[in-house]
Amino acid sequence: MNADLPQQPTPYHGVLHRYGHLLDLPEHTRPITLLEGDTHLIPVPRLAETLGGGFELFVKFEGLNPTGSFKDRGMTAAISEAVGRGAKAVICASTGNTAASAAAYAARAGLKAIVLIPQGKVAAGKLAGAVAYGAQVVQIDGSFDDALALVVEISNRHPIALVNSINPYRIEGQKTAAFEICDTLGRAPDWLCLPVGNAGNITAYWAGFRQYEALHGSGLPHILGVQAEGAAPLVLGHPVKHPETVATAIRIGKPARGEQALQAAEESQGRIIAVSDDEILAMQKRLAGEGIWVEPASAAGLAGLAHEIAAGRFHPQGKRIVAVCTGHGLKDPDIITKHMVAPQIFPPRLDVLEDVILRD
Ligand SMILES: *Cc1c(COP(=O)(O)O)cnc(C)c1O
Repeated sequence: MNADLPQQPTPYHGVLHRYGHLLDLPEHTRPITLLEGDTHLIPVPRLAETLGGGFELFVKFEGLNPTGSFKDRGMTAAISEAVGRGAKAVICASTGNTAASAAAYAARAGLKAIVLIPQGKVAAGKLAGAVAYGAQVVQIDGSFDDALALVVEISNRHPIALVNSINPYRIEGQKTAAFEICDTLGRAPDWLCLPVGNAGNITAYWAGFRQYEALHGSGLPHILGVQAEGAAPLVLGHPVKHPETVATAIRIGKPARGEQALQAAEESQGRIIAVSDDEILAMQKRLAGEGIWVEPASAAGLAGLAHEIAAGRFHPQGKRIVAVCTGHGLKDPDIITKHMVAPQIFPPRLDVLEDVILRD
């Protein structure tokens, strides 16, 4: 052996292995993992510059999880708990990413997965994922909120484990993203921006940061939660009956953890705001310009930051800011391809291609 070779790094075994001792999970929990978590915190200095500059900006790219969204962090915990107590089937309502994640972790554990999705409103990559992992996919002629009410009822009547984020173990698993950010930066950032749909994630981040502050004195961020204008119950102060937005992952009119989201914003001296679909899509494009392609909902946190800076309500100078990008762009290819001009077709000849490529 060459003595100069670096030591083997410790193999990574997923978020329960790394942070399980900090999570409130029952004794019977039996780890089911796809090695989720450990996602990159990517510096985006050029984007920060275009937002005024003078501050540090990082993207926590949660689209790098095994099924392409942060849902995997909570799902490993929820499925591990369900398996440990002998569940044979799991159920969830989903705008798409929870469905794909539940289906994958159920498959990993050898459980049946049933997912209820609102008809016609689920992005192609998410629906395909749920089918590929072998879930029973049921569409309902109703909203996500209707689907959630139904799966709660079903899980109360039958021995089927509910794995939506009202399941407390989902929140426990999702806290690990806050732990990772503190571990990577050495302390909590000054601000954290993220999209808010059913409000499980903002609840989990706030719980995670508070726990780390109590344990390690790592500080607390202010939290900027961002909803889409057409689905902004927490900004309006009342449920939205027919939520509408291109950001389908946050197309939710009655967030299950709405109270906790408002509490996280208040306790952290942050806020919850709404941005338009145009602002969301513009930020999706700017992120892609940095080489980071996220689904529309995932761009909402940063769109909110840009919105507040432009309105003069937020002065980022000297701050360290983390934006959570919750899911991968591959989940929702249609949002890109439906507006694009199809690439033109040319004969396979060098002179023609040179002409095309060098034209301007
Ligand atoms: C689920 C999801 C959200 C919203 O998270 P909540 O916990 O429901 O607030 C945002 N973005 C993506 C990509 C999601 O999958």
